[in-house]
Amino acid sequence: MIYADNAATTRLDDDAFEAMKPFLLDSYGNPSQPYSFARAPKKALRQARETVAQCIGADPDEIFFTSGGTESDNWAVKGSALMDPEKKAAIVSAFEHHAVLNSCAAISRMGYPVVFVRPDPDGIVTAENLEKHLTRPTRLISVMYANNEIGSIQPIAELCKTAHDHGVLFHTDAVQAVGHVPINVHELGVDMLSASAHKFNGPKGVGFLYIRKGIDIYPHNDGGAQESGRRAGTENVAGIVGMAAALKKNTDLMKETSEKLAAMEQLLTAKLKSAGVDFIRNGSPEHHLPGLLSLSFPGLEGEALLHRLDLMGICVATGAACDSKETQISHVLQAIGLDSTHARGTIRISFGRYNEISDAEAVAAAIVKVAAGRFA
Ligand code: PLP
Repeated sequence: MIYADNAATTRLDDDAFEAMKPFLLDSYGNPSQPYSFARAPKKALRQARETVAQCIGADPDEIFFTSGGTESDNWAVKGSALMDPEKKAAIVSAFEHHAVLNSCAAISRMGYPVVFVRPDPDGIVTAENLEKHLTRPTRLISVMYANNEIGSIQPIAELCKTAHDHGVLFHTDAVQAVGHVPINVHELGVDMLSASAHKFNGPKGVGFLYIRKGIDIYPHNDGGAQESGRRAGTENVAGIVGMAAALKKNTDLMKETSEKLAAMEQLLTAKLKSAGVDFIRNGSPEHHLPGLLSLSFPGLEGEALLHRLDLMGICVATGAACDSKETQISHVLQAIGLDSTHARGTIRISFGRYNEISDAEAVAAAIVKVAAGRFA
């Protein structure tokens, strides 16, 4: 089997797994308890917070552990709105993940206006374009760091500056970017940033929201005093420890992983071209996530291509994993204005740290076969 759907989820890192084990089997105490058996999990939480903070240039007390990207996005969007009695607007890009879009739908039902900014055909939201949408009192701007379907990376520092010039909070959904590209929250200037462990070889069901010191948003969960009283609930200690270990490892290996992934992208597209396969690559040629290729094959059906590749033991996606039950054209491809012939023939290939160059070769060969009508 060749797994080429790392944007949907990744294989757990071996060291992260080993780091988690003691907190599932031995040191399983509740970190909030005062007795000595709770000391190890408490210490592990503190160390994990320090490690995560260090990997993104934050301070440890700016990291709030959550159940993943969806919760972090919900918290950022709804938590910002709920602090605003004037019901000012939220501005978001039109190709956000549904965790942001549906959180916006929720605040819109509560009476907060929501404004959508369309990315350009390369999948980039420019500061100039964003500025044009700042025509009414606004509370929050949320633009994802890197798009999960086409991989385009946004000019976050510039967008954030535009937001701050207008006195507006800035959140970025960096679920696809953290652990894959260098991120320093202080250099970016963002107020909030969402991340999810299972996208960077950590365990599923755990993530974090970075909230810059001094930024007050409504607590997500009401309950106990965990996470400085801002996100109640007994901490997923093993998950958090695994997340920190995976993030540290991915960060340490980032340069060599990116180089390998760039070589794989290059090889795959070169093989398709030399075989005469008709395709275009979506997203920004210069600014994109390493290893993610959104390819459109006019005349082929993305869904059919996915199933053919599956029969050959290759996992790819047509769009976001959470959209795969829906057969309509993805909102991301619509947002970049891709015509329906190309959009219908689109698949997403996303290689990760555990892929080898030979995987890119095998995926290319399989696509060439399908394109030529020679199915396995
Ligand atoms: N945001 C983006 C950009 C994503 O790609 C995903 C997952 O697909 C999420 C949010 C949701 O993250 P999680 O699966 O941790 O809830």
